[in-house]
Amino acid sequence: MVGMKTLLNVSISRSIGKNLGMLFVREFGADSRTTMLKWQNERERKLKLSKEDRRKEYTRPYVPLEDIPTWKEQSKSLPDISESPSFEKLKKKCLYDIKIKEDLDFTDKVSTFVGDITKLEIDAIVNAANSSLMGGGGVDGAIHKAAGPLLKKENLNHDGCPTGEARLSGGYNIPAKYIISTVGPQCENPRELANCYKNSLQMAVDNNIKTIAFPCISTGIYGYPNEDAALVALKTVRNFLEEHGQALDRIIFCLFLEVDVGFYTSFLPVIFPKILPKEQQKKKKEIIEEVNDETES
Ligand code: ADP
Repeated sequence: MVGMKTLLNVSISRSIGKNLGMLFVREFGADSRTTMLKWQNERERKLKLSKEDRRKEYTRPYVPLEDIPTWKEQSKSLPDISESPSFEKLKKKCLYDIKIKEDLDFTDKVSTFVGDITKLEIDAIVNAANSSLMGGGGVDGAIHKAAGPLLKKENLNHDGCPTGEARLSGGYNIPAKYIISTVGPQCENPRELANCYKNSLQMAVDNNIKTIAFPCISTGIYGYPNEDAALVALKTVRNFLEEHGQALDRIIFCLFLEVDVGFYTSFLPVIFPKILPKEQQKKKKEIIEEVNDETES
């Protein structure tokens, strides 16, 4: 009798357990399907909107690409130091491990922007994420807050991201169409940091993204020294443009701290030099020689 009761109990509890399990699977499955539909639908809907219609949905101030001058324009207001001895020293410091193609001028393909990356109305912004892609502090926190909860829902499908790699998501409530999340190194590792830039740019090219902005990856919570990180960022972008320059219209270095403004402003003229047309080069050389002669005599 006791045996029968026990058997009955086991059978009932198994049946309840199974039903509960099925219910859970059904509910969980339905929930994740609904969630998936929600972010997919929203991502698709936003991507189909015209710029004007997207703008109607912004809830915060934004910065259109037209308001971000190219480095060619930005550098006009800076003194030309390209003939000074300190420039030669800077060149040695910056270019010891890279041979740049001196005849290629990318000054109209790069810009600096000082401010909040979440405001940029461009194709994609890059997030300096952590490997969970579930949000964190610094720029990651700012991007998740501005994009809204669907970014996290979409990122769940990526199942994390290893250091140096990149993952694509929709922009949701931010003006940029896409967010490319990359995970920077947590110590000074130039190869991994360069991979973040390379893989994010490759992700852009593969998805027809023409305009992209980078924060100073790894230089905040992850503690990468700002100066070295700026050199890695600029040289990696330069190398990539030399290979795939046609595929991208603008790469924006989004600077949030004064210290980075200083480093990028010093290094940009060396790594992205302005190439004067042959005639102007000749003229400039003549003027310099004239000035040198005058000072000698
Ligand atoms: P990491 O963990 O990769 O170091 P952080 O977010 O801590 O990333 O810092 C990366 C850089 O992003 C730092 O220069 C930080 O000042 C900057 N930053 C923080 N918030 C923003 C923002 N809203 N827009 C652009 N850059 C930001």
